[in-house]
Amino acid sequence: MMEEIKVEKVDKRKARPADGELSFGRTFTDHMFTMEYDENKGWHDPKVVPYQPLELDPAAACCHYGQTTFEGLKAYRSNNGALLFRPEKNAERFNNTNRRMCIPEMDPEFFVQAIKEAVRVDQDWIPAKEGTSLYIRPFILANEVYLGLKPSSHYKFVIIMSPVAAYYPQGIKPTRIYVETEYVRAVRGGTGSAKTGGNYAGSLKAQSSAADKGYDEVLWLDGVEREYVEEVGAMNVFFKIDGKIVTPELGGSVLPGITRDSVITMLEDWDYDVEVRKISIEDIAQAYKDGRLEEAFGTGTAAIISPIGELNYNGLKMEINDFETGEVASKLYKTLTGIQTGKVDDPYNWTE
Ligand code: PMP
Repeated sequence: MMEEIKVEKVDKRKARPADGELSFGRTFTDHMFTMEYDENKGWHDPKVVPYQPLELDPAAACCHYGQTTFEGLKAYRSNNGALLFRPEKNAERFNNTNRRMCIPEMDPEFFVQAIKEAVRVDQDWIPAKEGTSLYIRPFILANEVYLGLKPSSHYKFVIIMSPVAAYYPQGIKPTRIYVETEYVRAVRGGTGSAKTGGNYAGSLKAQSSAADKGYDEVLWLDGVEREYVEEVGAMNVFFKIDGKIVTPELGGSVLPGITRDSVITMLEDWDYDVEVRKISIEDIAQAYKDGRLEEAFGTGTAAIISPIGELNYNGLKMEINDFETGEVASKLYKTLTGIQTGKVDDPYNWTE
């Protein structure tokens, strides 16, 4: 049984930004959730407290060896109050990530309860304008004071929340993507299927050189053969080729996206042929040359669906669907965002 979550409220609430003035991840709500771990007590002392800096010893393990993990999900304002989208999937993925990083797991039901309690305390912070939401960032850091390399014996679990703008203020819009052939994001046996800080630190170099060339994101290839498509930026990727939908198998180096899983379920329900398999970049290029590459898009919590308008592979600039948002991407975006905000029927019971 988990302990009761204590709540200590702020004396004075901060001024909230207007819905029209939001960006991503720079403004935080009045409160945050924290919980501690040590070997004797396990996870303990769960509480919602005023948002504040963390106190960290400079020798804390997380400052040196990157033993940190995180999750990302959103709360949406609906006519029936705050809605979360499949939070138990985040709980499951968080535990998988934590296991990979030698961090103690937590009760998945408690993880969801902690999120709900934090959101309840700061529910006024969930913006209302179309496309906006409250981004929720649960994370763990290793804080044993020790420079030796070993799994920490102390951890801190924190949940912070940030009201965020619509990802596409002017409506869903295609992006330009650079196929990365020098750097890789992950290898099988590595940590690619875990949400841990190092994966993202390691991706910055490729992302910034793609940005220098005028591209929005990179398309990652596998780390061994440098041949198979893995992900696009911090999103999973889908292609429509010859009417069929193809997406890379997870294979241990791809992050198992919750949007990806939802999209596969929906497309199968809509009677699309969905193939989850290895897909080589050469096959994509060939499909493009033959006029069979009909659509490409990324999926993830931040953008939900992000259409790809151009893929640059070694100088071959593949313009997809005349740089327009495709039919499948468009329908997925409408339906998923509708379910998430309680505006359309949720036949899967994905929201709570
Ligand atoms: N891949 C990576 C590397 C990511 O960081 C994310 C974001 N969590 C995703 C894919 C998409 O996952 P989700 O749909 O659960 O947001």
